[in-house]
Amino acid sequence: MNIKDIKGIGVELEKKFNKLDIYTTNDLLEYYPYKYNYIKIVSLNDLLDDESGMISATIIETPKVQYIKRNFNRLSFKAMSNDTLINVVIFNRAFLKNNLISGKEIVLIGKYNKLKNTFTCSDIKFNVKNNSIIPIYHLIEGLNNNTIIKSISNIPSIKCDDYLPIKYINKYNLIDREDAIKLIHMPNNMNDIKISRARLKYEELFDFMFKINYLKRFKSKVKGVKRELKEEYKDSFISSLPFSLTKDQLESIDDIYNDLLSVNRMNRLILGDVGSGKTIVATFAIYLNYLSGYQSALMAPTEILATQHYKNLYNILDKFNIKVALLTGSMKSKEKKEILNKLENGDIDLIIGTHALISDNVKFKNLSLVVTDEQHRFGVGQRNELRDKGIVPDVLYLSATPIPRTYALTIYGDLDISMIKTKPSGRKEIITKVVKEDNIKEVLYKMLEELKNNHQIYVVSPLIENNLELDLKSVIDLKDKLNLAFNNKVNIGLLHGKLKNSEKDKIMNDFKKGIIKILISTTVIEVGIDVPNSTMMVIYNAERFGLATLHQLRGRVGRNDLQSYCFLICNKEIERLKVLESSNDGFYIAEQDYKMRGGGDIFGERQSGDMEFKIANLKEDLQILLKAKEDSEEFINSEDYLNNPHYKEITDNISFINWQKVLIIIILK
Ligand code: ADP
Ligand code: MG
Repeated sequence: MNIKDIKGIGVELEKKFNKLDIYTTNDLLEYYPYKYNYIKIVSLNDLLDDESGMISATIIETPKVQYIKRNFNRLSFKAMSNDTLINVVIFNRAFLKNNLISGKEIVLIGKYNKLKNTFTCSDIKFNVKNNSIIPIYHLIEGLNNNTIIKSISNIPSIKCDDYLPIKYINKYNLIDREDAIKLIHMPNNMNDIKISRARLKYEELFDFMFKINYLKRFKSKVKGVKRELKEEYKDSFISSLPFSLTKDQLESIDDIYNDLLSVNRMNRLILGDVGSGKTIVATFAIYLNYLSGYQSALMAPTEILATQHYKNLYNILDKFNIKVALLTGSMKSKEKKEILNKLENGDIDLIIGTHALISDNVKFKNLSLVVTDEQHRFGVGQRNELRDKGIVPDVLYLSATPIPRTYALTIYGDLDISMIKTKPSGRKEIITKVVKEDNIKEVLYKMLEELKNNHQIYVVSPLIENNLELDLKSVIDLKDKLNLAFNNKVNIGLLHGKLKNSEKDKIMNDFKKGIIKILISTTVIEVGIDVPNSTMMVIYNAERFGLATLHQLRGRVGRNDLQSYCFLICNKEIERLKVLESSNDGFYIAEQDYKMRGGGDIFGERQSGDMEFKIANLKEDLQILLKAKEDSEEFINSEDYLNNPHYKEITDNISFINWQKVLIIIILK
């Protein structure tokens, strides 16, 4: 039924509703209230001075309206409440004048100023009952809340089909759709709101995850490279390592093994907190790929990190005769050329570098696996470059992404995810403290102590792009200060983006070898650097960084079984930073960060079109989302959806392109 057939909706009102994408009574019924006002009338005498509340009153004079400015008016009248004569004022509601008739009973919502005996209203209600609940809707200009309430109550009969599989309705004891729709707009009590919201949120998230899971299933049918693999490859790799793998690492290795064995293309994300040991898992994928006769590429976001990976992976892979090479922008062109030749001939099995690896002049003999470390740093453009070259390799992403784990399954809807939840055993929590700059002495003492134990220290200071010179001065300043504090007796290195690559390498190497004891750095060390002997991280101007970044930085220490420390220096104490004092769990921190900054961030791109939710809220409804994910997967696997007209329609009309686009936009955030 069209909304214009509802009593009271004329042409003008219809247009307003259309602006909200409301065309049919069904659309209107799915325009859910975002909150409710509870009518709780108190006695005027019980209100303290300036306290807000709702009171009932009787109008005893015709209101006066003063037009103060354009768009600004003041309506006032006298009323009786609790046997007290009071002045009532409300701004910008001149239009209420004709409804405010002497003798009428009304409800005033606002604040009472005892001294002036004036009640200043934010709203005036007619015909409301005490203890009733008023739904509040998002409004647009010219459409007020009462009109929406009235229009809904004028819908002749509310009839809805319930298409949610009965199995899940029973599983969670949900109420049926028709009841939920009625109660969400016309609740009698709090419980009505609770049960109707529960039902409608679940339904919405179920549909959402149904679409994502359906797409994922469809996408996983993309054919990839077929490999001959043997179970014993796992053992030969694992037994070559100097440590035993954690349970999650082993599971990830199994996931990868199965992916590479399958004819379907691997598209997997290894999600694990900093220091959880993702690299070794990726190394396994490279090992398998080599054994099946193909080339691999490993891309890292910075040259420092690429170089580190090269050294580590060389150590692990060389004994298997796997030929590993590093390609960086700072190499001499002769050297580069040689590597490029070898890549094309197949004399190199694994190439490691930055994203320059997929530039035009790099040709492979038979590239079939691409690993990208800290993948949120790679743009989609770079990934498309590969695809454009006609290469459809298996892909593995490694990420300690600050996106909370619980959202990842939605955000990376088209990727498979392996989680590494625990760190290698023996790792201690990093003791973290927020310190005001005035108390820096405390930090210096601790630094001295760690230096005496022959441990190493990172000091990080922010460097902001638009003020390089000034900020550079500040890191150099910092070096002078520390030299002063330690009597020039400690070897301090300085690492920042303005150095030449060869200089950076030298400093990094000296730090790794333990020649440099304190490394002052900008955030270039943020990702991936691994120097287990460093036990202390000092971060200046910590308030300038997001929690997720701080956690990443902190992850540079605590990389073996030594006790490590992190000091967050700031000018004034910042509540936000306390989260880091209390937790070492990157996913928890990301979630807190996300909560504190509000929802506009990660899902910001999602505010329009396909992805908008009518009632669910990804931030608040994670638990429901997780259930909906599982249930919808089961529903798809059972193929019951083929007999359900609603879901059949979704699968017939699903816009693959749009969804992919939205997912990619979100991945890039
Ligand atoms: P991230 O997940 O942050 O990339 P890395 O892969 O760099 O972490 O691993 C961090 C450190 O832990 C490295 O020195 C690595 O060799 C080591 N490591 C990885 N797995 C284990 C393990 N199971 N036991 C002990 N050390 C490990
Ligand atoms: Mg890493």
